[in-house]
Amino acid sequence: MLGRKSLPASIVHPQAGPIVIKVYPQSKRMRLSFRAPACFSVTVPMGTSERALRQFITQTDAWILRQLSKVSVIESSIQSQFLFQGAPYEIVQQPILSRELYQIDHHQKVIILDAIGTSPAQRLSYLCRKEFEKLLPSLITKHSKAMELFPKKISIRDTKSRWGSCSSTGNISLSWRLVMAPLEVIEYVVIHELAHLKHMDHSPDFWSVVSQHCPNYSQHRHWLKTNAQQLHYI
Ligand SMILES: [Zn+2]
Repeated sequence: MLGRKSLPASIVHPQAGPIVIKVYPQSKRMRLSFRAPACFSVTVPMGTSERALRQFITQTDAWILRQLSKVSVIESSIQSQFLFQGAPYEIVQQPILSRELYQIDHHQKVIILDAIGTSPAQRLSYLCRKEFEKLLPSLITKHSKAMELFPKKISIRDTKSRWGSCSSTGNISLSWRLVMAPLEVIEYVVIHELAHLKHMDHSPDFWSVVSQHCPNYSQHRHWLKTNAQQLHYI
């Protein structure tokens, strides 16, 4: 089989993502091109085999990584600090040799993002989600036991206007953006949503349950209002 039919529409590169394949009957050789921030395409002559194409992409690997690192340098000047569990962390972008996409040094308060790949904002939101997934189960267990209120299901979302919600069927969802807030603020939101399992409204009875388990709740509500913008900057 000749031409386009024998080739996929794109080939996925481990760092650059999908590289779009364009077959041009008039082109004589394979050519790779790049458009910032992360769009790679390759033009190939009619009849090129997938094997030859993959070989060509492997040979141009150093060039692909160079283009991506140039973009990362530009983007790294945009963000240098990040709020993590209420404390400012310094963001450093450098190649990470292991398979991890980020590393966090809690003693030095440094977040290392892999310098190659998607945009820093995408990598930070991935980090938030992952870290929130790690943190949340123990907080739910702790407060569920204390309050004797047990949700059916917990989900982590990116809810734009709310930090959390509780459905009438007993499912709780929380925003991964909360991982940027201090621990006691995250605990307040967990307690707030668990309290909805008992009272679905914001009645005095509801607030009395919240204050029983979180006496400083108004302080934490205030923190969320004051810092909402910061939690939405990625
Ligand atoms: Zn509520």
